[in-house]
Amino acid sequence: MKVLIADDSPTMLRLLESTLKNWGYEVVEAHDGEQAFQILSAEDPPPIAILDWVMPRITGPELCRRVRSRKSRAYTYILLLSSKAQRQDLIEGMGAGADDYIIKPFDNPELEVRLRAGRRIVDLQTELMQMQDALREQATRDSLTHCWNRFCLFDILAGEISRCCRGKKTLGVIMLDLDRFKRVNDTHGHVCGDEVLKQLVKRVELVIRPYDTVGRYGGEEFICVFPGCGEQELRRNAERIRAEVEARPVEWMGQQVRITSSFGAVAGVPTPGMTPDQLIRTADEALYRAKREGRNRVSFTAYGDPE
Ligand code: GH3
Ligand code: MG
Ligand code: MG
Repeated sequence: MKVLIADDSPTMLRLLESTLKNWGYEVVEAHDGEQAFQILSAEDPPPIAILDWVMPRITGPELCRRVRSRKSRAYTYILLLSSKAQRQDLIEGMGAGADDYIIKPFDNPELEVRLRAGRRIVDLQTELMQMQDALREQATRDSLTHCWNRFCLFDILAGEISRCCRGKKTLGVIMLDLDRFKRVNDTHGHVCGDEVLKQLVKRVELVIRPYDTVGRYGGEEFICVFPGCGEQELRRNAERIRAEVEARPVEWMGQQVRITSSFGAVAGVPTPGMTPDQLIRTADEALYRAKREGRNRVSFTAYGDPE
């Protein structure tokens, strides 16, 4: 684990460095408070910091306050090191945001157990963040294909409708449905069908831009949201996805599964009060037309204000 040691005394730095290295810590050094703050603000900062109280430029307690006032997700466990031994000093240091306080000259066993306590907090914090990430993933992503789930898709769509309505910009939406997908399941099995859905999303992601969205609407139906796309560009995008899906079969346990898809594409400038449901209904109607007209094609409908 990385530990930052900040002290203006080179002797103290040497002492801390060799002691911490002996205990297996990776040591990062700062010679004053300013340098320490820069290190703690950079990417992948040390999770534990041992800060001297009296340092040029920024003092230990001031540094604590600065670190605590940032909106960073990563927690820094701070141990203040000082020769100030009064109860009032301890209260001031911990009040500034330090997690622990140790009096110089420190004794090795004490520093070691205090650092171990810090490590426990840092480990718990890391576990908590990983759990938070996993929960966020579960709440927002489709578990099979990892694209946005239906709940998020509606949220994103609602946001883009109001943004494009306000800015009088075009918004393109396509509804994509795999053709005769039931046959894939019936012929190759459900697990193969799942693989096809995963591959489908990968192919869609090859075509869309980073700020476009693909989400699973349900079953084998997906919705893509293209902010700023008018009819021509939307048709081009839908056509590129259609061609990408059709281009090569999905490989599954030595079998080649050919797939095609149909698209309902809608573009326009959203009008005030327009809802995701309305837009999806229009896209759904266009999709049904594409199915009726023979599948593996794009059917387009304009909506809202004329472009
Ligand atoms: P069409 O061209 O008219 O869309 O025909 P289709 O067979 O694709 O449409 P239909 O609605 O009849 O069938 C959809 C199938 O999608 C039925 C369902 O079992 C399958 N399906 C839905 N979700 C999943 C899934 O998560 N995994 C797998 N393997 N199949 C799924
Ligand atoms: Mg289908
Ligand atoms: Mg369907």
